Amino acid sequence: MLLAIMERGMISAMIEGEKRPPKVKGEQTICVGCGSTLRAVMPQFKVAHWRHNCGDCDPWSEPEGEWHLGWKSFFNPRFCEVFMRDPESQEIHRADVLCPQSGGEGVVLELQHSPISEEERIAREVFYTKENRMFWLLNMGRTSALSFNFSSCLNFSEANRIEIGGRDFYRMEWFMRGTMLDKWKQSRVHVFLNHGPFIFYLATMAACRSLVGGQAKGEFALARLTVLEFLRAVAGDDPFALTISSAESEGG
Ligand SMILES: [Zn+2]
Repeated sequence: MLLAIMERGMISAMIEGEKRPPKVKGEQTICVGCGSTLRAVMPQFKVAHWRHNCGDCDPWSEPEGEWHLGWKSFFNPRFCEVFMRDPESQEIHRADVLCPQSGGEGVVLELQHSPISEEERIAREVFYTKENRMFWLLNMGRTSALSFNFSSCLNFSEANRIEIGGRDFYRMEWFMRGTMLDKWKQSRVHVFLNHGPFIFYLATMAACRSLVGGQAKGEFALARLTVLEFLRAVAGDDPFALTISSAESEGG
C-alpha cells in the first residue's frame, strides 16, 4: 500500500528564482499555477514539500510515496511538476514530468500509482495531449496482490511473440479475477507498466490496434524495455532533462 511520504502538494516550487523544495520551516512562496500562497511543510518523518494554503489547485494531484519520488528524481526538477493551462477553458493541471523536445511536441509523463476512473483517465489524456505526447507509467507493484497477480501472468516465451512495428510483443493472459489492463488497453496514449526494476510497454488500441482489436477480455501484450530506454524516450534529445550522468546514459 501507499506509504504517503508527501500529502497532496509539490516537492519543488519557484522561490527566489530557483525551483526547489522548501529548506526551512516558515518559508512561503507563490504557486506559479494559481497565484496563491504555498507554505513549507517540513514533516519529521516525511519529505519536505510545499502545500497550498487554501487547497491544491490541481484536482488530479494525489498523495505521493517513494514510487513517485523515485521516478521524479531521475528528472531535472525544472521538468517535474510542470503547470499547464488550457488556453480555452483556463483549466490548470501540473504534469508529473514534462520534457520539451527540440522541434516538436514534448512528452508528458504521468506517474500513476492509484486506480483512476475511466472518465479521469480520458480527461487527463485529452488535457495533456493538446500540445504534447503523453506516456502513462503505472505502478504494478502498488499492492502485494497486484504485484503477485501481474508477475504470475508474465510470459515471454517464443511461442507468444509477435512483431509489430519492429518491436517484439508477447501475448499473455490475466488469468486471475479482474484486471485493470482491459481498460488501459483502450488508452489513446502510450502506456508503460513498472514492476520492480522492469518496464513494459502495453499494446494499446492507439499503438497496436490490429493486435488489441482481436484480444478477448483478460488478454494483453507487452514489449520489454530497460529503465534507461524508457527514460531516454521521455527525455528525448535534451541532455539536461535527466539527472543520471551522461556516462551512465551512454553506457546503455
Ligand atoms: Zn496552485
